[in-house]
Amino acid sequence: MKPVYLDNNATTRVDPEVVQAMLPFFTDQFGNPSSAHAFGGSVSAAVRKARRQLQALIGAEFDDEITFTSGGTESDNAALLSALEAAPNRTEIVTSAVEHPAVLTLCAHLENTRRVKVHRISVDCRGRLDLDAYMAALTPQVAIVSIMWANNETGVIFPVARLAELAKEVGALFHTDAVQAVGKLPMDLKSTAIDMLSLSGHKLHGPKGIGALFVKRGVNFYALIKGGHQEYDRRAGTENTPGIVGLGMAAELASKFMDDESTRVKSLRDRLENGVLQRIPNTFVTGDTLERLPNTANIAFESIQGDAIQILLSRVGIACSAGSACSSGSLEPSHVLRAMNMPHGAVRFSFARDNGEADVDRVLEVMPAIVERLRGVRNSGPGKRSAEDLQFGLCSRAGRTGSRS
Ligand code: PLP
Repeated sequence: MKPVYLDNNATTRVDPEVVQAMLPFFTDQFGNPSSAHAFGGSVSAAVRKARRQLQALIGAEFDDEITFTSGGTESDNAALLSALEAAPNRTEIVTSAVEHPAVLTLCAHLENTRRVKVHRISVDCRGRLDLDAYMAALTPQVAIVSIMWANNETGVIFPVARLAELAKEVGALFHTDAVQAVGKLPMDLKSTAIDMLSLSGHKLHGPKGIGALFVKRGVNFYALIKGGHQEYDRRAGTENTPGIVGLGMAAELASKFMDDESTRVKSLRDRLENGVLQRIPNTFVTGDTLERLPNTANIAFESIQGDAIQILLSRVGIACSAGSACSSGSLEPSHVLRAMNMPHGAVRFSFARDNGEADVDRVLEVMPAIVERLRGVRNSGPGKRSAEDLQFGLCSRAGRTGSRS
C-alpha cells in the first residue's frame, strides 16, 4: 500500500520543479558567485533572482532585506544575537512559551551565560497568547521580542503585526519565526512593523539546509557568522547556490499556488478532523480552530498518549507526528501541549501540496481500530462525551494558562 505522508510541518517533499531549477548549479553552473569572471557572474545573477523571488513571497520592500542562511534555526539565532549586540543597554527578551527550540534553547543559554532576562509569555488552553502578560513584559529594557507567526504543532497563528506595533512603543525590535507560516499565509512585510523574520526552505517544498532572514532596512544588524563579505556582510561563507536557487523557485511556486493550495489543504484537514471526531469518541482538536494554519490538525485522544498512536499509524504506513519532530521519541507531552495544560499528548497531521483525499480516507479507515486497541476495551471506551465538553473539561481541570517551560 502506498505510504501516506502527513508530516509536512516536519518537512516537505522537494518539488520536482525545484529540483530541476537546482540541478545546473551542481554541474555547469558551479562558479563561485563572488568570482569576477563569467563563471561567477551567471551564478551571482541566479542568487539575485532568488532574492527577488523570496522578496515577492513575503512582501519585503527591498531585495537586500533578504539574507540567505542555513535554515530557520540559524536565522532565529542570528536575529536574537544581533539585537542584543545592537542594544547593549537592553538586557531582556520577550518570547512565548511555545516557540520552537531554535528560540527557546538559545534563550535559556543566554539566561545562563549572559544574564539576559527572558519573559516567556504563556498561552491559554487553546494556544492563544496571553496579551496582558505580553503588554506587562514590554519595557524599555527589552532588546527584542521574538514571537512565532504560527505554531509548528498546533498551527495556531499569533497576531504578529499587532504585537510588533506594541513592541515598537517601547523601542524593542520585533522578530518573528515564520518558518511554518511562509508559503502558507499571505504576507506583506512592508506594511508591518516587523523588523526581522526567519524562514526555512524545507517547509515549503524547497531543499533542506537553506533558509533566510529578513532584516528591515534601517535595522542595525550584526552578523552571526563572521568571515568574508558575502550577503552584504551579513552572513559570511561561500553561498549555497543550489540551495538558494531551490529556495527561490520554492518561493515562486508558493506565491503562485498559495491561494488554491490553502483552500485545498484546508478542506482535506477539515475532512480528517470531522471524520475522526465523528468516528472516535472522546477526541478533540487542540488549539484555536479559528486562527490557525490551513494545513495543520492536532488531535487529542482522551486517555491515550499521542506517541502510541503515531507508532501504530507508522506500522501501517502513515507518517504523522506526536508533538514536534524535534521532541518525538519522548513520552512526555511536548512543551507546547504542556504550556496549553494538555494532560496527554496529541497527534499532528500536517498537509501539503502532495496530499489528496485518499490520504485522509486511509487514516479514517485505520484510526478507529487503533484507538480502540489502545484504549484497551473494544466497544466500551470511556463514556462518550462531546469534543467541546472534553476540551473545556480538560482546560478547566488544568487551570486557564501556565507554561512549564
Ligand atoms: N522554527 C520553527 C517554527 C520550526 O518548525 C522549525 C523546524 O521544525 C525551525 C524553526 C527550524 O528550522 P530549520 O529546520 O530550517 O533549522
